[in-house]
Amino acid sequence: MPAMPQAYTGRPIDQSDELRMILDTVDRVFARHFPAEEARRRDKAHAPPYELLPALGEAGLIGLGFPEEYGGGGLPWSVVARVSERMGYLGSMLGTLCDVTVTFGGMSLMAYASEAQRRDLLPRTIRGEVLFALALTEPGAGSDASRIRTRAVAVPGGWRINGRKIWSSYAGDSTYMVTPCRTGGEPGQSRGLTMMLIPPTAKGVHMTQLEKVGNNGLTSWDIGLEDVFVPESDVLGEVDRGFRNLMSTLHYARAGLAASATGQAQKAVDIAIAHAKEREQFGQPIGKFQVIQHRLADMQMRVDQARLYTYHLADLISAGAPCRREAAQAKVIATECLQYVTHHGMQILASAGYHSDSDMQRIWRDARLYTFGEGSNEIQRNIIARELGL
Ligand SMILES: Cc1cc2nc3c(=O)[nH]c(=O)nc-3n(C[C@H](O)[C@H](O)[C@H](O)COP(=O)(O)OP(=O)(O)OC[C@H]3O[C@@H](n4cnc5c(N)ncnc54)[C@H](O)[C@@H]3O)c2cc1C
Repeated sequence: MPAMPQAYTGRPIDQSDELRMILDTVDRVFARHFPAEEARRRDKAHAPPYELLPALGEAGLIGLGFPEEYGGGGLPWSVVARVSERMGYLGSMLGTLCDVTVTFGGMSLMAYASEAQRRDLLPRTIRGEVLFALALTEPGAGSDASRIRTRAVAVPGGWRINGRKIWSSYAGDSTYMVTPCRTGGEPGQSRGLTMMLIPPTAKGVHMTQLEKVGNNGLTSWDIGLEDVFVPESDVLGEVDRGFRNLMSTLHYARAGLAASATGQAQKAVDIAIAHAKEREQFGQPIGKFQVIQHRLADMQMRVDQARLYTYHLADLISAGAPCRREAAQAKVIATECLQYVTHHGMQILASAGYHSDSDMQRIWRDARLYTFGEGSNEIQRNIIARELGL
């Protein structure tokens, strides 16, 4: 198994004052640029909030967990996780855009890019000027990334790429697709992969947008790569070490998703509680029926469990401690919590939740992705079992 990367742990933070100020900033930015009605409008219009990324950058929210020398905030992951959670609560469409920029973009640069690439790309990423996509999945390589067939052949000055990627989020609108390509070995072998930066505008890249049932602000793409030239300067990390490099950053993505899912889950519970207090049937608020009360009690307990575990993972990352099992666990706990609370939330809201103006139905639809996306929960359980020595 590849070793975890040398962690960047950030400086100590006063959890009460400094954190409160940062979370207030999140609230202010979302109130100004992404209030609830704007989230609804964009969901219906399938309109990703790309142009808001610089506003997050300007408020310092993308760079929180990156070193100050690159323009970051120099803060520990425990802060990043709480901000992701807050963004998930206020509007996961914009929060996810930020999380992907931080985890697939910035953290990849931190973990295995050259210093020249880091100096060039990280400050711009932190300012919200660069959008990254991860183009890992292929038609024949989903859970089993070792099945990647997209091949890179060495040519003078760089590499020539042929292959196909699928389901890459934001790819068609990104600045760069972080793209693992096969530079050695055969499909079925994890060795011989190399990470490349490919702009979607490069000659030979063919983009088709995919339609789907949720996450309407997260565009999805089928990507043909036909004799695409990638200069040597856009190879990210060592040649043939791409699998190891990719694995070394996945705990950030899992931590980000767990935090966002926790925020979304709390939002779903709060919507359900408000509805249970307001909606009257049989002469009383439905929240007076014990069955509804117990449902809501169970929902809140699940969210609190997810939150505590997500914070535990964040503390391990902040301390630079190994956390492969904990990252897998947090991803499973938080994403399954989110599906649980939205399933029951839809039942409590009934017809009011099924209306397309309802925030509950949007969170419910979006939640369906998370138990199989970013490494399915079956694969996470395989990781947990392996870490337990099984
Ligand atoms: C909206 C959306 C956004 C996405 N964004 C991205 C992105 O940005 N970049 C990217 O590269 N990919 C992305 N993906 C792809 C996503 O990561 C894959 O869908 C995911 O990895 C699962 O792969 P698969 O769909 O091919 O399922 P499969 O691998 O075919 O799995 C099917 C089922 O079999 C189970 N299974 C497979 N192997 C095992 C095993 N060994 N043990 C137990 N169960 C197993 C899985 O858990 C799953 O339930 C996205 C997908 C969607 C739908």
